Parts: sequence; structure tokens; C-alpha cells
Amino acid sequence: MSEVEGLNLFHTEKKYVFGGYHRDPLLRYESTSGGAFTAIAETFCDENYIIFGAEAKGLTVFHSFISNKGELQRFRKSKYSQSRMGSCYRDCKTFLEAGKKVLFSGTPCQVAGLRQFLRLSHTDTAALLTVEVVCEGVPSPLYMEKYQDALFQKYHQKIEQLDYRYTGARFFGRGKWDFEALKVITSKIHHEGKWDFQSMRTKLISQPKQIILDRWFNPFWSIWLNHLMSRPSCYECPFARQERTADITLGDLWGVHLYCPELYGNNFGSSLILANSPKGISLLKKARSRLYGHPLDFTEALRYQSPLRKPIDRNPDRAHFMQDLRSGMSYAAINRKWAKKPGFRLLWQKYIWGNQQKINVWYLKNRLFRKGDRVKNA
Ligand SMILES: Cc1cc2nc3c(=O)[nH]c(=O)nc-3n(C[C@H](O)[C@H](O)[C@H](O)COP(=O)(O)OP(=O)(O)OC[C@H]3O[C@@H](n4cnc5c(N)ncnc54)[C@H](O)[C@@H]3O)c2cc1C
Ligand code: SF4
Repeated sequence: MSEVEGLNLFHTEKKYVFGGYHRDPLLRYESTSGGAFTAIAETFCDENYIIFGAEAKGLTVFHSFISNKGELQRFRKSKYSQSRMGSCYRDCKTFLEAGKKVLFSGTPCQVAGLRQFLRLSHTDTAALLTVEVVCEGVPSPLYMEKYQDALFQKYHQKIEQLDYRYTGARFFGRGKWDFEALKVITSKIHHEGKWDFQSMRTKLISQPKQIILDRWFNPFWSIWLNHLMSRPSCYECPFARQERTADITLGDLWGVHLYCPELYGNNFGSSLILANSPKGISLLKKARSRLYGHPLDFTEALRYQSPLRKPIDRNPDRAHFMQDLRSGMSYAAINRKWAKKPGFRLLWQKYIWGNQQKINVWYLKNRLFRKGDRVKNA
């Protein structure tokens, strides 16, 4: 039994599993997946509430709290970097003791840390709701620092905002495709659905220019998802399992095109929501009026969510990669050495015959055979 298991932090009740997205398309656009976090937070916040979450300033990611749900956008969007907790555990305890309702969101290990802290300090947690993201780990911040150095050399400005999951990129039409740098440069935000492409947008301080890197040409995703730069603890994460520690778990609805295509929602983003405790189930049921979607079978959802089954695999080259990252090697040289270029087959699968196209065929078949809308939205 692992040390964490002995702490009795996992919910073992039957889960309520839901797939879908926020009914407000703008909120979906501003969110990473389907905007489930906003739907949950909006439902939780009636009066006398506090919400904790991760926000970013430039490359720095840190936890903070808000007492006005109008500021929820500070926490929206996944920042793929470990957030600094600062005094948030203590603040959370103070708010609970003062009789506030508290929603705490973060990675599973952060939620577990909070729960253990509150338990050891004998704090009443009846008014606490915990929300965690499905978590495949966090990468070393050093890589993005190198990226910033490279941009600084070119543009003489630091990063103001990094959107790892930008959904407004246009690959054809008004967006300009820069073949040399393999990036799309566009000066306007276009409300285009591109959730399962995971483009990354970088805004520089006081510069109108935005740098948009396409998912399959972005060295960050190649290196990180090859598990070359995850934090050491993530390779043996005790929270990568079906039993969850938070009341609610939020993730992307990966595999949507395979088992619930009706929830793809035009590639604007779709969420997987697990309500793991009676508190979580009751809140999710109340939040359903804000969400379009329907319950899902947990076994199906689990097939496409490896972080809910096991920790990430170790990459034997990690130590070598990290050595290069810590050395004076430039961002470009690191990428040349370690990032994999997409092959023709992958590009074909993603752009020519991708999920969007498969779902279009599914819709066409449905129309032809008059099956109508299969969404079982109650
Ligand atoms: C590091 C990380 C790894 C992830 N890995 C996966 C994965 O492998 N598979 C998967 O399906 N989903 C993963 N997710 C979750 C997914 O990216 C979305 O965050 C989730 O689906 C919620 O999206 P949303 O549209 O509901 O809301 P959004 O409004 O976009 O969600 C924002 C929420 O994420 C929290 N958050 C953002 N950045 C951080 C951070 N650095 N640390 C702690 N909390 C943060 C905020 O506090 C807020 O609660 C990951 C998220 C993070 C942060
Ligand atoms: S993978 Fe596990 S240890 Fe790593 S950040 Fe996520 S929850 Fe924490």
C-alpha cells in the first residue's frame, strides 16, 4: 500500500459520469475543454463563496482566489506548468472557518494536499467542494523559459500570455500560413472551433503580434507528450487511478468521435465530468441545466483516459534531455535534437481524415437514415 493510499483520501462510491459542454458558446471558446469548470463554479456560487484556481501572469502560474464569479476567466484555460500554491491552503482554512463556501480547483495532488492539510488541522470541510483536472503531469518550466529567451532575442519582449489550447486559429482563409516557421500568424481572434488541435498562442508584452503554433508542429507537445520533461513525481503519481480524491474530476472528452460523436459539438470543445462523491453528484445534477450533454458509461470513458488508469511511462532519455535543457543549449537546438517532426501519415490522419471529417460522415449518415439527434439530454 502506498503512503497516499493509507491516508484514505479516495472516493470509492459509484460515480456519476457526464459528457458534454457549456451551453454558452463564448464560454466554451474561452475554456480548455467544454467549459465544465465554469458550469460547476457558476452553480456552486450563490452567495458567500470563494473560488480557488490556477492563474497565470506571463510564464508564472500560481494559485489564487476570487470572491466574485465575474472574475472566473482568471482561472479558465489549462496552464501546463506547476502552479505555486503560496498561502492558498491556509487561506482556504481561514475562509472555511469564517463560514464561507469554498470551491478549490487544481491538480489531483494539489487537492489531496489540501484535504490532508485540512484534516490534520481539524477543519470542518462540509462547505468545501473540490474540483480536480484529469492530470497527465506537469512539464519542467525550464523549457518554456528557453522559448521565452528565444522570443526575446527575436522580438525584444517577454511573454505576456500563453494560451496552450487556443481554439481561434485559422489554417485557411484570413489566417496567414508561414511555411518557413511553420506557424500561423494572425492579428485577430477568430471564433473558430479547433479544440482537438490544441494550437498554442503566444502574446508578447506590448506587441500586437500573436504567434500561433500548430499542434502537430509544436515542439512543446512533441517533447512533453513523449514524457521527456515531466516532473519526477508525475512518473509515479498515486492519483493516476479510477478512484478519485476530488468531489469532481474534469477532463477533455477524448475518444468523443468513437463513442459519443453527438457530443463533439463542431470541435468547439467537449468535457468529461466525473462526480465522485455525494457532494459532487448533487452539484453536477444542479449544473446540468447549464450543460448540453448526457451521462456516459464510465468504462467507455476510461478507455480514452490513461491518467485515470496509470501514471505516465518513464522515458529512458529523460535524464539526457534534462541535461541538455539545463545546459546552455538554445531553444532551437533542443528542438532540433529532441522534437519529433510529424510524419505524412499523422498529418493525413489529422488534417485530411481527422475527427472532424469522421464526425461529418457520422452526421451525414444520421441525416440520410433519419436517425435524428441522438443526444439523450434530459
Ligand atoms: C497540467 C494539466 C494536465 C492535464 N492533463 C489532462 C489529460 O491528460 N487529459 C485530460 O482529459 N485532461 C487533462 N487536463 C484537463 C483539461 O486540460 C482541462 O483543464 C479540463 O478539462 C477543464 O477544462 P474546462 O473546459 O472545464 O475549463 P477551464 O476553465 O479551461 O479549466 C480551468 C481549470 O483548470 C485549473 N487549472 C488550470 N491550469 C492549472 C494548473 N497549472 N494547475 C492546477 N490547476 C490548473 C483551473 O484552476 C480551473 O479549475 C489537464 C489539465 C492540466 C492543468
Ligand atoms: S501527474 Fe500526479 S503528481 Fe503530477 S501534477 Fe498531476 S496529479 Fe500531481
